[in-house]
Order: sequence, then structure tokens, then C-alpha cells
Amino acid sequence: MAALDGLPPLREIIQRHGLDARKALGQNFLLDLNLTQKVARTAGALDDATVFEVGPGPGGLTRAILALGAKKVIAVERDARCLPALAEIADHYPGRLDVIEGDALKIDFEAIAPEGPVKIIANLPYNVGTQLLVNWLLPKAWPPFWQSLTLMFQKEVGERIVASEDDDHYGRLGVLTGWRTHARMAFDIPPQAFTPPPKVISTVVHLTPNENPIPCSVANLERVTQAAFGQRRKMLRQSLKPIGGESLLVKAGIDPARRAETLSVEEFCRLANSL
Ligand code: SAM
Repeated sequence: MAALDGLPPLREIIQRHGLDARKALGQNFLLDLNLTQKVARTAGALDDATVFEVGPGPGGLTRAILALGAKKVIAVERDARCLPALAEIADHYPGRLDVIEGDALKIDFEAIAPEGPVKIIANLPYNVGTQLLVNWLLPKAWPPFWQSLTLMFQKEVGERIVASEDDDHYGRLGVLTGWRTHARMAFDIPPQAFTPPPKVISTVVHLTPNENPIPCSVANLERVTQAAFGQRRKMLRQSLKPIGGESLLVKAGIDPARRAETLSVEEFCRLANSL
């Protein structure tokens, strides 16, 4: 598919700037313009939004987000080699692309979020993707500074994010996302769509905030899910022993013979609130 934005093809940009993919930085570039647009479109209307993008790399997804009309993109990229390629995009869209060179894990997105709607869209480096998601799920204020998260993960991680009770993928991540968001898997992307192809299938997950999550302390919820899923095949009376065991379960009105993976998010919150 020809680039509709008039910028050179991504392969040419990668070659010209010597952006050979580095495994340590989780670099698997998405060069198919149909797919970059499909990812950006999953975030819904962008025209009045500021988009945070993590890991723009040579800028394929960035270009799709800008072409779809995002008011502004603030992109955080760790690999300085990508900056000249991103500067070309910034020149093409004056005033609409800011690039921050640095490690996204060290950036306080909440602190730098501008006024108005903020959406986060990213083809995440796999080694930091889950931690970034957890950071965005635990900002200081709730509802959060973002309106939606549209994020690419390894499919197996995507399944854990959207999992609910009685699903084999259900665990601490599913409880956290189920508590604070509405999460769905949008579509899969096969390895061969990337350069170089990763070993696994990728999936795009779309999350929007649950405006009124059950009131519950994050620290307590972490304690109960960590203990419960730490020994997920055991009955809760056993796995929760270090934090109150049977008496905690009775207080929360939960059968001590149940196992972690059968508890709903609401029941985990009840346990956390009974601690
Ligand atoms: N968005 C591009 C695309 O879709 O083709 C590149 C995606 S690639 C999977 C991940 C990108 O994240 C790379 O450009 C990599 O340099 C960058 N990256 C890796 N770790 C990072 C970090 N901690 N903070 C910011 N960017 C990071």
C-alpha cells in the first residue's frame, strides 16, 4: 500500500537511517500501512485528542495516528538512532509531533498529560509492556488522565489482560484490569507482519476506564491476588494462610474451599477490604 501522507516508504527510512532492529530494545517494526492504520483506528476518533505513543521506532504507527487527525502526538523513544527519522515526520506535520528521548518506564505520563482528552496508543516493546500497562492502571488519580489505551502485546499477555474468572489465563493482571477498566482484545497480528518477525502472535488490546471501580485499596488487592494466585491450584484457605486464611475468607463471605481462579473481581475486592 502506498503511503498516503507523502512521506517516503518505511523500508526506505529504515535503510537510510540504518535502523537495523535491535532485540534488546524489543524492536519488531510494523511496516504494513493497512495494519498501522487499523491499530490507530481502534482508538476511535483522534481529532481532538493528544496521543501518547511509546516506542515510535521509525514512525509507522506515529504516521498513521497523525494521518488520522490526532491533534498532537507525544512520542517517547529510547533509541536515539530513531530521532532523525522522527524529525522528518515532525517537519511534515508542523507542531503536531513532540518526541521525548528516554525510557518510558521513567516518565510520569500523568504529570506531563496536557488538558483535554488523552489517548495512549503503542506497539509496545515486549519486555516493558506489562509494567507500563500496570503503571497506567495505577495513576495517582482515578478516573485516570487517559481516555483509552490501545496497546499491542504478545497474544498470551493480551489473554491475561482480558481474562475473567474460570479462564485459565485469569490472574493478578486480569483482576487489576477487570477492576479498573473495560478491556477487550481487538484483533491479532501474525508474526510475518513485522520486520523482523517475532516468535509469537501479537494482539491489540483496547482498554477504557471503569469510571466507578469498587472502592478498594490497591495495596490490599495486590496482597490478596499475590497470595491467591501464587498457589492458584490450592484451596484459598491454604493459599491465603499468610494473610489471614480461613478467618479472612469467612469475614469476606467466601467459601474457603474455593480456588483463586473462581473468584470474581468483586470477590477479590471484598477480600481486600476485609484485610
Ligand atoms: N512503533 C514502531 C512500530 O510499530 O513499528 C516500533 C515498535 S517496536 C515493537 C518497540 C519500540 O520501542 C522500539 O522502537 C524501541 O526502540 C522502543 N523502546 C524499547 N524500550 C523502550 C523504553 N523503555 N522506552 C521507550 N521506548 C522503548
